[in-house]
Amino acid sequence: MPIATVNPATGETLKTFDALGAEEIDRRLALAATAFSRYRTTDFARRTDLLNRAAQLLDEDREGIARIMTTEMGKPIAAARAEAAKCAKAMRWYAAHAESLLADEHPSAADVKDSGASRAIVRYRPLGVVLAVMPWNFPLWQVVRFAAPALMAGNVGLLKHASNVPQTALYLEELFRRAGFEEGCFQTLLVGSGAVEKILRDRRVAAATLTGSEPAGRSVAAIAGDEVKKTVLELGGSDPFVVMPSADIARAASTAVTARVQNNGQSCIAAKRFIVHADVYDDFCERFTARMEQLTVGDPMQESTDVGPLASEQGRADVEVLVEDALRRGATARCGGRRPEKPAQGWYYEPTVLEGITPDMRIHHEEAFGPVATVYRVADLDEAVAVANDTPFGLSSNVWTRDDEETERFTRGIEAGGVFFNGMTASHPAMPFGGVKRSGYGRELSGHGIREFCNVTTVWHG
Ligand code: NAP
Repeated sequence: MPIATVNPATGETLKTFDALGAEEIDRRLALAATAFSRYRTTDFARRTDLLNRAAQLLDEDREGIARIMTTEMGKPIAAARAEAAKCAKAMRWYAAHAESLLADEHPSAADVKDSGASRAIVRYRPLGVVLAVMPWNFPLWQVVRFAAPALMAGNVGLLKHASNVPQTALYLEELFRRAGFEEGCFQTLLVGSGAVEKILRDRRVAAATLTGSEPAGRSVAAIAGDEVKKTVLELGGSDPFVVMPSADIARAASTAVTARVQNNGQSCIAAKRFIVHADVYDDFCERFTARMEQLTVGDPMQESTDVGPLASEQGRADVEVLVEDALRRGATARCGGRRPEKPAQGWYYEPTVLEGITPDMRIHHEEAFGPVATVYRVADLDEAVAVANDTPFGLSSNVWTRDDEETERFTRGIEAGGVFFNGMTASHPAMPFGGVKRSGYGRELSGHGIREFCNVTTVWHG
């Protein structure tokens, strides 16, 4: 894949970049290692100042970076601004909380004595140079939710961003530099995915985090496993959105639309499979479909646009193949199922609701990375849980019910890293984020996220 900015709203190539050569990659790895040797000893007050300064600059830059993101990957401009604001908030959250999240731990006096020590503590020390392989769909947020905790923990970062968001990637390097981080603390490597293996195997790289597709995750984890290096994987999702009879159906239906089409349908935590109790199925589907049909599809730079283009021509082709496969095998489209007539250029796809889904259809098991919802009718809670879990993924889940007993049964039954009741899944700096099954392992955000790339050290005194 060439490293280039190609506007998905027009298909026009706006800017291309040369990939870094082997010598330059080596120079930057050396720079990262040198930066780590110094940065690791900085205190929390210094790191806090630097990260707060980055947050301040990002707030000032919001409009400009939002327009770059929308140009590179097509998200509606209002969502791009909100993403930039969320990143600044996460930076401030880690700047404020990292020191307490990484405070020394003290085993009980009885346990210290039992271990034969006069005193003992557990200390969180930084791990080193962490390689981040990141996707284009939230091109700022995915990076910041890695970088903010990593830098606060005393690590340094190397970013290999998706090849279609090079300007956003370069902006991030520049942002941390302008904030005052020493050269080498955060570097963007403009390289293709073929260069990742050599970088990951380099002895100066301690660990890796990857957010992206399952094949990419499997490849990076296999190489890291071979090198015995720690990884965190945030991979795909096909989150269920369950609606039970006690739910507020009108709210559930309107939230379902946002949950499905956010980011033009290209979010790992988008609700993708709508699992509805038979008693409220018709009511929910009518409201949901009507709202999906009312969405404005068009130029993502327009404030009034709800759904912009998919980020790449290939991405749209992948969605089309999944929908066509389902329709051929007997599914029906309540709406959508095709490209819109307008805009004629760009990689647009109509918001789509499919029903009559059966397990032989690819969309039943695969992630639909576009504005395409599948709806299932279920008889009771047990069937809802069974359908929710009938997927290789386990990122998050949404359940609409006002029944306390059902809430507990869903919490225990659903195989996912999150269960969101009467609302849609959204990440927050204070809440752990990550999945089970093929959605990956490890957690980002909260205390769990910042401790992933730490050397948890036992300090024991005889
Ligand atoms: P992708 O094709 O896997 O790309 C993600 C990143 O991995 C890019 O930087 C890509 O580089 C790189 N890459 C691809 N193949 C690689 C390989 N074999 N070895 C090393 N690096 C490789 O995914 P995407 O299409 O950009 O993103 C969509 C996927 O990400 C979806 O499945 C979505 O659910 C998932 N996602 C998950 C989360 C989460 O938090 N769980 C969040 C967002 C997205 P190039 O661009 O150069 O190919």
